[in-house]
Amino acid sequence: MPDPVEAAPQIRFCGHCGQTPPTALAARSRVCSLCGLGVVISAGEDLAPRKGESFIIIDRQLKLCGLSRGAERVLEVDEPNAVHRHICDFLEPADAEAGQGDELLQGIITASFTAPRTLVVRPAGEYGVRFAARVGACGPPAGALIVLSTV
Ligand SMILES: [Zn+2]
Repeated sequence: MPDPVEAAPQIRFCGHCGQTPPTALAARSRVCSLCGLGVVISAGEDLAPRKGESFIIIDRQLKLCGLSRGAERVLEVDEPNAVHRHICDFLEPADAEAGQGDELLQGIITASFTAPRTLVVRPAGEYGVRFAARVGACGPPAGALIVLSTV
């Protein structure tokens, strides 16, 4: 187990627009003061989305709880139609053998709850597109953050 004292500093950001709250007061608010739509959550600074990166937030059951506008475009789905669906409906490891991607992805995400991972993924069933994905814990509520950047 990693020593929690040595974990990366936590960054707060909006689960919808990805912006960091502009003031200390805004950072204490549960709902994003910039877009008014997302809930403000925390993740390690090495994991949290940087400007322009798309991201997906899933819960401990690996069901989708939120995604950024960029991720909506990448996955060709709107947030209301995406929430509560399993992450394997949307992403698979880019180098997975046929039929083994789900298990592989679930294993990586579950492992990422204790230490962040990176892997290359593609939208499920989409063979021409690849993303580098950073996967790790975020919250509250406890879940995993998947940040997609183009490779
Ligand atoms: Zn926001």
